Amino acid sequence: MFCENCGKEITPGAKICGYCGTPVTAYEQSIQTPVQLYKQSGSYNKLWWLLPIFVGVIGGLIAFFGVRKRSTKAAVIMLVVGIISTIIGYFLFGI
Ligand SMILES: [Zn+2]
Repeated sequence: MFCENCGKEITPGAKICGYCGTPVTAYEQSIQTPVQLYKQSGSYNKLWWLLPIFVGVIGGLIAFFGVRKRSTKAAVIMLVVGIISTIIGYFLFGI
C-alpha cells in the first residue's frame, strides 16, 4: 500500500510511513481481503501444521499394515519411526 500523505510505498504491516511519519490510516487496514484476514487469524498456518502429522502418521500406518502380516515387531517399529520422524520434522521446521 501507499502513504496517503506523500505517496511513497509503505512496508506491509508498518504502523507509520517510513518517509514522512504519517500514521497508516485504519481505512488502509480495513480493506484487507478475506484471505489476508484468514492468514492473520492463524488458521491458515494451523492447516499446514497438520500436514507433517498426516504424512508421518499415515506413512507409519501404511507401513504398519503393510509389514504386519510378515512381522508384527517390525510393523510396530515402522509405526513408531513414522511418528518420531514427524516430531523431528516439527523441530527441524521450527514449528
Ligand atoms: Zn508518507
